[in-house]
Amino acid sequence: MLSFEQLNLIEPILEAVKAEGYTNPTPIQEQSIPVLLEGKDLLGCAQTGTGKTAAFAIPILQLLYNKKSSHNGIKSLILTPTRELAIQIDESFGAYGKKTGLSHSVIFGGVSQVPQVSILRRGVDILIATPGRLLDLIQQGYIKLNQLEIFVLDEADRMLDMGFIHDVKKVIAKLPAKRQTLFFSATMPPEIGQLANSILNNPVKVEITPVSSTAEKIEQSVYYVDKGNKKLLLAHLLQDAGIKTALVFTRTKHGADKVVKDLIKLGENAAAIHGNKSQNARQKALTDFKTGALRILVATDIAARGIDVDQLSHVFNYELPNIAETYVHRIGRTGRAGASGIAISFCDGEEKAYLKDIQKLIAQSIPEVKEHPWVLTFAEEKAGKQNSGSVKGGGGFRDRRNGNNSGERRSFRGGDPRRHSTAPAGRSRRES
Ligand code: AMP
Repeated sequence: MLSFEQLNLIEPILEAVKAEGYTNPTPIQEQSIPVLLEGKDLLGCAQTGTGKTAAFAIPILQLLYNKKSSHNGIKSLILTPTRELAIQIDESFGAYGKKTGLSHSVIFGGVSQVPQVSILRRGVDILIATPGRLLDLIQQGYIKLNQLEIFVLDEADRMLDMGFIHDVKKVIAKLPAKRQTLFFSATMPPEIGQLANSILNNPVKVEITPVSSTAEKIEQSVYYVDKGNKKLLLAHLLQDAGIKTALVFTRTKHGADKVVKDLIKLGENAAAIHGNKSQNARQKALTDFKTGALRILVATDIAARGIDVDQLSHVFNYELPNIAETYVHRIGRTGRAGASGIAISFCDGEEKAYLKDIQKLIAQSIPEVKEHPWVLTFAEEKAGKQNSGSVKGGGGFRDRRNGNNSGERRSFRGGDPRRHSTAPAGRSRRES
């Protein structure tokens, strides 16, 4: 295994990396840093959680430090789809670059532009931006990119998903032709492949962590449960004091709000982050979650994209995603940079097809936890299928523990909930 010293990093960066507690470069860092230091273009197929940010931030800092350009224009631009990611990348530049004397700043929409503009006026070496606000400030004349040397397009596929690709192309049109370009994308749909071809010059290709292997180091389990009982099962599993931080995923913003409401009613403290929340509310929830003041964060996929919590122990898929790759992104929030993590999924009758797709993608069968208070029994599963998965009223998802139809009770305190959450029993043989 290589050390950071073997990557020929300068002392101010080596010190900073050490201060972060990193002992060795991750595979993407090992492969990207040397070619980027040579000034080459890079096409990186990698997702967050692989150490991607440092893989580009470290060489950018070193190149700019060594050049000591005299102009005071923006020398490097990192374009990223979400505010949360932008903030995290900015923090990473702060951490790795604290001894380099290079300045960095972040701009994103949804907040006043005034403080952002006043920082830009003082001159910024490295700018991290989301596309909309960047274009806005370019159009108002506050940002000029004519002296740019290194451009990073981060999460290009996500830009496409979020409808930003047009803005991204507009930004690219404003960059000097002579520059170094880094292009990162977790997947390569044709439109993204074409964009990469059009802006990269003879790039070195680095591909890290095929989706299936990300899933391998995470302890996964699935609970079959009726949609209406998910909140009770979640509250029950959350009684496990071993769960220090839990990120709970829903498919929709409305769903996220509903889970928070239900959890609060059931006595848990939780908050949601998604696009409808104000920037301040999102930032507060995220900060509380990172510091441990908030134990449970409920998020939609897009909002969670930039969440980077070092010690995230548990991910709950309260609702399974309808796109199998999303499952891998979700569970990849835990078990980061080699740490182990736990991912627990709830699957109701309607979601069995999603589960099948996921298991196919990760080439693994996710072990089923059969012992829990709100088991979806086989007969009801069938009924669920006929009724598109939801049996109303007393229609029969049984609380196996006491033989009653389960209602709005939260009385199950018996047994060791950890048993259910961390030690999945047996492999799933159920296929729909
Ligand atoms: P990223 O893929 O950039 O989102 O990084 C994922 C996580 O890995 C972040 O929490 C980083 O702080 C951490 N990380 C990055 N590089 C290393 C490294 N070489 N050793 C240990 N942790 C790292």
